[in-house]
Amino acid sequence: MISVSEALESLTALVEPGPEEIVPLHLAAGRVLARPVEAARDQPPFAASAMDGYAVQTAGLAPGARYRVIGEAAAGHRFSGKVGEGEAVRIFTGAPLPQGAQHVVIQEDVKRDADGMIVVTEVDPKTHIRPSGSDFKRGEVIAAPRQLSPADVALLASMNHPLVPVRRKPVVAVISTGDELVMPGQNPRDDQIIASNCFGLKALLEESGAAVRILPIARDTIPALQMVFELALTADLIVTIGGASVGDHDLVAKAGKSLGMQQSFYKVAMRPGKPLMAGRIKDTPMIGLPGNPVSSMVCGHVFLTPVIRHMLGLPAEQTRHTMAPLVCAIARNGPREHYMRASFSNGQLTPFDRQDSALLSVLAQANALLVRPPHAPALGAGAEVPYILL
Ligand code: AMP
Ligand code: MG
Repeated sequence: MISVSEALESLTALVEPGPEEIVPLHLAAGRVLARPVEAARDQPPFAASAMDGYAVQTAGLAPGARYRVIGEAAAGHRFSGKVGEGEAVRIFTGAPLPQGAQHVVIQEDVKRDADGMIVVTEVDPKTHIRPSGSDFKRGEVIAAPRQLSPADVALLASMNHPLVPVRRKPVVAVISTGDELVMPGQNPRDDQIIASNCFGLKALLEESGAAVRILPIARDTIPALQMVFELALTADLIVTIGGASVGDHDLVAKAGKSLGMQQSFYKVAMRPGKPLMAGRIKDTPMIGLPGNPVSSMVCGHVFLTPVIRHMLGLPAEQTRHTMAPLVCAIARNGPREHYMRASFSNGQLTPFDRQDSALLSVLAQANALLVRPPHAPALGAGAEVPYILL
């Protein structure tokens, strides 16, 4: 059995960052920028007014100063003349500052009359001018790799990039295995249950940036598994669910090996999730998750999320563990790293009483996984423990 961090290292070695593709800007949010992108222009491209008011020369600006209004500058409509001594141009937010002016007097600080306008307050030391290039200059760079936020998308637009180079989404084929499974909405026999894990994992994988194909459920026979594996080989990663333990009906490894699977490991010292396996079938990386619903989802958080990050060219760092105090005492841990379903509220952690790895209802209530390292001692209420927010 290998440790969680050894398993993670082995998994990230199994996959590599995918190729670049170009997407239209409006589809770029959440994608990972594949290479640095440079601003194609200055923003603003001209000195612009930050307020509605009057553009004037700084010299002579004083309370009581009188100006003749010689024209208007609005956003998208430059005033083409020049502002001289004693002259003002009516200006609006976003308009280019006319030549000759160095100051915008805001409209609240002046009084208009038939002849022009008079400054009626103390002079505001702020010029209310946004210098050209004050947001960014041509050639300024957005560094890669970077998962693009809504603000990044707006910045790329502002830099005049209608197309964005991003990492192609890794395609993950998810295979449920088991004679007892039917898809939601079908009529299960009285000895069957509904396949749930593939949907939870699809959501989790998509949240991490993957494109997911849910394949038909494979029955617990070697030919059925072989057929679904063949269907999955064009994916960038195959994830199987169930059939990974050592029971008579756990045939995933056998079917994989019949197709030439090179196994990189089998079994990880963690709870839930021990029967995790990984390898490569005909060049396609494969991760075999345990079938119990909570085990497969916990393995998804602990392993699949970093693996997808790596495939997107992002650092695959282990999910960060934060510390918080326990509300109640907990028992000592055994030799496997334990990921306990817990509720995190008011800065404190409460593990759920029922930790059975078949209980999806408990996982759905949990918003944290309390991490118990191998052989961690018993702890009292108030002790600080590591956790992962879900
Ligand atoms: P296995 O690893 O195939 O022995 O499965 C362990 C447990 O998880 C069994 O109770 C299965 O019925 C259940 N299980 C396996 N795959 C799924 C799935 N896709 N959705 C829900 N439960 C599953
Ligand atoms: Mg099974």
